[in-house]
Amino acid sequence: MKAFNKIFSKNYSNKLVNICKNSIEDIKSSGAYKVERVLQTPQSMEILVNNKKMLNFCANNYLGLSDDERLINVAEFGLKEWGYGMSSVRFICGTQTIHKDLERAISRFHKKEDSILYVSCFDANAGIFEALLTPEDAVFSDALNHASIIDGIRLCKAQKQRYNHLDMNDLEEKLKLTEARVKLIVTDGVFSMDGDIAPLDKIVNLAKKYDASILVDESHATGVLGKTGRGTPEYFNVEKEIDIINSTLGKALGGGCGGYTTGNKEIVDLLRQKSRPYLFSNSLLPFVAKGGMEVFRIIRDSEDIFQKLNESTRFFRAKISGLGFKILGNFDCPIVPIMLGDEKAAIDFGMEMESEGIYVVGFSYPVVPKGQARVRVQISAGHTKEHLEKAIKAFETIGKKTKII
Ligand SMILES: *Cc1c(COP(=O)(O)O)cnc(C)c1O
Repeated sequence: MKAFNKIFSKNYSNKLVNICKNSIEDIKSSGAYKVERVLQTPQSMEILVNNKKMLNFCANNYLGLSDDERLINVAEFGLKEWGYGMSSVRFICGTQTIHKDLERAISRFHKKEDSILYVSCFDANAGIFEALLTPEDAVFSDALNHASIIDGIRLCKAQKQRYNHLDMNDLEEKLKLTEARVKLIVTDGVFSMDGDIAPLDKIVNLAKKYDASILVDESHATGVLGKTGRGTPEYFNVEKEIDIINSTLGKALGGGCGGYTTGNKEIVDLLRQKSRPYLFSNSLLPFVAKGGMEVFRIIRDSEDIFQKLNESTRFFRAKISGLGFKILGNFDCPIVPIMLGDEKAAIDFGMEMESEGIYVVGFSYPVVPKGQARVRVQISAGHTKEHLEKAIKAFETIGKKTKII
């Protein structure tokens, strides 16, 4: 190790490296140090980790499409047909017919006029606020919005208002007291830590009352909520009232990568002119664009997949709370936080579940407030009844053993 360091470290100042070392020590002593867990198989319901077969309950693979044969075949064909990469941003020579086709498929799915593709939804969020808003405008953001929304807002010069999580009184107060040319309300559709859903019906009412626009980040909701998977706006039956939707192809929709903004055509056109992650970053890989179109084809033809996801979600939630666990979130949300109490309980619980072959993640302080440690389960339409029952049984066994229930 010493010799290795000698070869690869420069021999004068190590100031930055030492600072990093100290920061890592701090993170470790706070208990927040993250260790990557390494899968030895494709992403699926049954995976291999540390040479052990596990049932996976912690992926964003809500429709079980990550290793879907149809997607693999289309992507493989797309790779041969369209080549590996674009070597260009979109506006120079990085747009192929498949990128335009995918944008049309996205618009059609969300019933919007136009769409713009990014390599990730993080990029969509990073680019949108600065491109659309000026210091004359104001943005109203839920306190628990995703990190990429927070960063995107930081990059813009609009007035910034953060309202308490899901708190419509607080939002109204802030809308009422703020003078601005454009008022833009932004919220996650589904919040991934607490498994709750933004009350879009109420947000729409406030937007009408205070002449505001609405941007919803549907990353955990597209392909998840609603009878046909159109997300939170469909769930609340307010699709027309939502001005802008940002979402990802990296979760329910195949779990590959790619993000997008969809909405009014002038908004999308302005983003193509001004959004920096769009203008200054490479195009989506052609075969991923091809795969994305296949995802929209698959979900258009299979409404039953959303019904199955919803039934499994309700079944799991009912069984787990029936066992005496305290769970958070909306009963239609496949993200199920199961509360365990103190930090040590969460760590022990996670390890016991792992030995039962159930793969779940534990969150404890400082990621969530002290004393609110939890494991987060994510249900997928790819889980069979047997998978669900095995997980429920493990929760019962370990819950009793650790005296949580
Ligand atoms: C995951 C997520 C993103 C980032 O999506 P990527 O396409 O993986 O960059 C953005 N917003 C929310 C709410 C998310 O959950």
